[in-house]
Amino acid sequence: MRRENEKDKLAFARAAMIQEQLKSRNISDSGVLEVMARLPREKFIPSESAEQAYFDCPVPIGCGQTISQPYMVALMTEELRLDKNCTVLEIGTGSGYQTAILAKLAKEICTIERIETLSLKAQKVLAELEIENVKFYIGDGSCGWYEDKKFDRIIITAGAADMPGPLFEQLKLGGFAVAPLGGDFVQQLMLLEKTPKGVKTKSVCGCRFVKLIGKFEYEE
Ligand code: SAM
Repeated sequence: MRRENEKDKLAFARAAMIQEQLKSRNISDSGVLEVMARLPREKFIPSESAEQAYFDCPVPIGCGQTISQPYMVALMTEELRLDKNCTVLEIGTGSGYQTAILAKLAKEICTIERIETLSLKAQKVLAELEIENVKFYIGDGSCGWYEDKKFDRIIITAGAADMPGPLFEQLKLGGFAVAPLGGDFVQQLMLLEKTPKGVKTKSVCGCRFVKLIGKFEYEE
């Protein structure tokens, strides 16, 4: 009975998140809204913080890292303009919440996380949710995917000074990347499009992410 009440409360909070945090701030992509309305965000954060799952802010997930604010996850996903043919490279698996959303909207996700504990937890949650179109890699995402492969979309979910060169190399011509770029404490969420004439950029909004740490980014 108690468990049922908890479930009802979380479902209520999830519906409120869609309305009050996403639709009210102009997230309009029906695919993004539908997936986030169904995905149990509480599974991606430590059980003792379950009541914070739908808070309008980042929430700690252990190892000094956070699951991003729901609005930021929705905005970054919407900016990627995904379809079922897209292959996506994600840097910063974290809890796996963003990964799961990408997996529901695209064909294949390759995701890299530098902290083994987080990657293994995320792998377990996605397996429980029977999400199978994700390849996980534990390592430095600033170096790109370990195979010689190009992606339709790239998403970086940690703050970088600039788009690491090896990642940009792995973006297909005509592809989009979304990333928080510019500073170690605050960044601009940038949309980059790789065109035959070079890179087209759009600044989406200001944001604040944990640092991207790696060979082609910040030192540990
Ligand atoms: N999108 C995630 C989610 O839904 O939970 C949140 C990601 S969290 C804001 C950023 C993540 O990037 C952290 O888990 C951090 O360990 C990871 N990270 C930082 N530098 C990295 C790197 N060079 N390669 C891979 N992951 C990195």
